[in-house]
Amino acid sequence: MNLPKPILALINSFERLPGIGPKTAQRLAFYLLRVPSEDIAEFSHNLAKLKSDTKLCSICKNVDEVDPCNICTNSLRDPTKIIVTSSPLDVYAFEKVGFKGKYHVLHGVINPLDNIGPDELYINELIKRLTDQIADSADVKGQTVPIELILATNTSMEGEATAMYIAKVIKDRGYKEDEIRVTRIARGLPVGGDIEYADDVTLSRALEGRLKF
Ligand SMILES: [Zn+2]
Repeated sequence: MNLPKPILALINSFERLPGIGPKTAQRLAFYLLRVPSEDIAEFSHNLAKLKSDTKLCSICKNVDEVDPCNICTNSLRDPTKIIVTSSPLDVYAFEKVGFKGKYHVLHGVINPLDNIGPDELYINELIKRLTDQIADSADVKGQTVPIELILATNTSMEGEATAMYIAKVIKDRGYKEDEIRVTRIARGLPVGGDIEYADDVTLSRALEGRLKF
């Protein structure tokens, strides 16, 4: 006996989600069969609203209910500090630790195996944004604070490659020292981590990125 079509369709939808295999997809679909209709209605309503009620910020590419987003339009935030992240979820992480600058979300990292090159990410938009911002600040006489571009992509191989690519593009563009400064978030040992269990790469980076005590 084949499963009823509506159940099969839902299982197929669940299976497309990251981290969900066929067994979990089946379990979720059968679980939802037992959930009261009102709860299912609320669930599907929220799912539909996810796309219809959110917007991609035209400046920083973060996700918000308004465009430009609340961070871009907040004049109390420092426009000369821009964190570059690979996902909107990372913006949320930096917000939690009280960062008061701005962001630029790439929506991915360079990954040749998945056919994701620089043009699939919002890198060209970042360069244009920086160029425009520098041109605007040149009009304000007497004060030119360099923009610090803080590269905060993951420390995975793809994250590193993406950060290196952006740093190279900025360098090749020939911006002046007082226009853009590119930095990378420090890498090292996690809090509570044991040195004897750290891998070689992490340990050597912790040594390279040491700070004055
Ligand atoms: Zn924004």
